[in-house]
Amino acid sequence: MGGPIEAGESYLDYNATAPLRPEALAASVDAMQTVGNASSLHGAGRRAAEKVNRARRQVAGLLNCSPGEVIFTSGATEANNLALQISYTAGRSLVTSPVEHPAVLAAARALTRDHPDDLVLLPVAADGLVDLSALDRVLAARSGGTVSLMAANNETGVLTDIRIAAKSAHEAGAVIHTDATQVIGRLPVDVAELDVDFLSLSAHKFGGPQGVGALYVRRGARVLFRPLLHGGGQERGWRAGTLNVAGIAGLGAAAEAARISMEEEAARIAVLRDRLESQLLRNVPGCRINGRPDQRLPGVISITFPGVPADAVLAAMPDVAASDGSACSSGAPTPSHVLLAMGLSREDADCTIRFSLGHATTSSEIEHAAQAVVRAVAQVRSAMT
Ligand code: PMP
Repeated sequence: MGGPIEAGESYLDYNATAPLRPEALAASVDAMQTVGNASSLHGAGRRAAEKVNRARRQVAGLLNCSPGEVIFTSGATEANNLALQISYTAGRSLVTSPVEHPAVLAAARALTRDHPDDLVLLPVAADGLVDLSALDRVLAARSGGTVSLMAANNETGVLTDIRIAAKSAHEAGAVIHTDATQVIGRLPVDVAELDVDFLSLSAHKFGGPQGVGALYVRRGARVLFRPLLHGGGQERGWRAGTLNVAGIAGLGAAAEAARISMEEEAARIAVLRDRLESQLLRNVPGCRINGRPDQRLPGVISITFPGVPADAVLAAMPDVAASDGSACSSGAPTPSHVLLAMGLSREDADCTIRFSLGHATTSSEIEHAAQAVVRAVAQVRSAMT
């Protein structure tokens, strides 16, 4: 059996989903091969519960929180929706940014549908940084509520200084949630140091299985008990439904593997990213990098090839997996809301490709991609003239 990446292909779409880590595969398969509902009191149930508890400790170890502060969910979409619902319902004010993932933006819009003035979007600069000085001004005019800002943007990799945002939020009596989906397992995150009240993560972005994630809820955080799912009372009533033991076991194993190798991986990935970026800048005339270069995730390149539609470039290089806009909205004719918020024209947004690298990216994938992209852009350009 080969690895998850086909020979002769470059998989550079880790922000959409990352290959499973071997540790996660082994833990999930082990759990699938055993029977047991984690809520059952018999031996089989207790063994399933032990797998879940182990994963809870592993996730807590990655975040530096206590296991009791981790609620398992079906992924970051659910974690974001839950965080906003339990905090907004308690506070009735929601401050976020226009570059958030739809799992925050659409959830925020839905929650505030009957009170649109409750929702404020902070300004974003041309380099993708959220204007945190505006946060203080906005919070001064409101009482309490919720601030929700992503730790890293999925399209550009641009990082937000969540520690500063948390300080502003708390000084104004607000709670803070961060969608850390693209950072967890890639850069160190310590929830105590960040001082956040809620944090969302998703296993499949850092080598765990798809369809499982978690919400960190700080013990003592000001929330209303408003679960999204009602039922059997699992996860102390916060998230009903039989626990996805195999998924959760895989999430835990990926968290532990990422914690151990993160430092070395981040350094290695940054070198590969810089190599791809410099080759593209050197060999494709007129291309431009989006997002503040010194405040980005190590594995992300958002690059605009002016006048060259991204979908045509991607179609011309099927052996390079990359993305135009975010995978969630790929196929939709709307341009990236993130790039538009940064001031790109609609045309430039449509000519932008995201490459995202991760734990299993190799230097031969980078060499292959660099050549394939240069060739594909030239091919599309010549077909257009
Ligand atoms: N937030 C961000 C920043 C993301 O990149 C994603 C995945 N594209 C999500 C939330 C949604 O995560 P999930 O796939 O686990 O629902």
